[in-house]
Amino acid sequence: MGIDKGTVIAAHGRHYLVQTESICLHCVTRGKKSDVAVGDIVQLKQTSPDQGVIEKIEERKTLLYRSDQYKSKLLAANLTQLFIVVATEPGFSDDLVSRALVAAEAGGIRPHIILNKIDVTESLPKARERVSLYANLGYPVHEVSARTSPEETIAALEPLLKGQSTILIGQSGMGKSSLINLLVPGAELATREISAALDSGKHTTTFTRLFMVDGNTSIIDSPGFQEFGLYHLTEGMLERAFKEFGPHLGHCRFYNCHHLSEPGCSILSAVESGQIPAMRHALYQQLVHESSQKLY
Ligand code: GDP
Repeated sequence: MGIDKGTVIAAHGRHYLVQTESICLHCVTRGKKSDVAVGDIVQLKQTSPDQGVIEKIEERKTLLYRSDQYKSKLLAANLTQLFIVVATEPGFSDDLVSRALVAAEAGGIRPHIILNKIDVTESLPKARERVSLYANLGYPVHEVSARTSPEETIAALEPLLKGQSTILIGQSGMGKSSLINLLVPGAELATREISAALDSGKHTTTFTRLFMVDGNTSIIDSPGFQEFGLYHLTEGMLERAFKEFGPHLGHCRFYNCHHLSEPGCSILSAVESGQIPAMRHALYQQLVHESSQKLY
């Protein structure tokens, strides 16, 4: 059987499900290689009616990394968008949201913030105030209620998804599964089928899976809140990933300023004057610290 081309729709250990134009194949890689990510476009050789071997990964447009605590370091490839799902309640973590924004910025992926459960009116003002920080940085924020206004939610999000490859992430309880089920009819059934195909029935929600909505639209569901791997980012990449630093870069007294505690630092001045949120600068410091710990 000849070489075919397909998209990796699920990964479990070194086992992959690859959707070609006509068939879904259970694939492995050659040798011990396991650097395949969900969303990868691969060339494969079919070895039986439902099995194949991945021969080659086509060049990736984008790639998101997981933190080191996960077995596979690759979260998903060829994404164009990241939907960060937060909710009015339970509370969400600004640290995780900002880390996701940094991962998206550094990876060339457009982030959106989805504020779900806006029907919980008593928690809405506080949640709106919290997400306004991100709206003020220029990130699009979309307010939805997956449970009480499903049609409006679909109407608000579907146009954004069209023609894109979007991953949804969110802390547990934010309503990510509810959103996926709205946006991908049949998602639950498809997930059960994928689990069965990968022989991982008991791990139903522990792997990332890609749903093809149409020929050029896909939605990726990723279990839990992904802790992104940000160690590979250099200081230069980090400062560019904080988009509010942009106007202040290049104005520090020292050309090689690290924006940590140096005199004459224009980023620190902007934090002091409130132009840069202190919380975001604190995360920048933390990420610089984390990447230096990793290196030495
Ligand atoms: P996940 O852990 O992020 O996948 O969240 P789920 O989709 O499982 O939702 C967690 C809980 O929030 C469930 O009880 C849902 O019914 C509820 N939920 C989801 N969306 C909404 C919403 O828009 N409004 C309200 N009030 N509850 C919601």
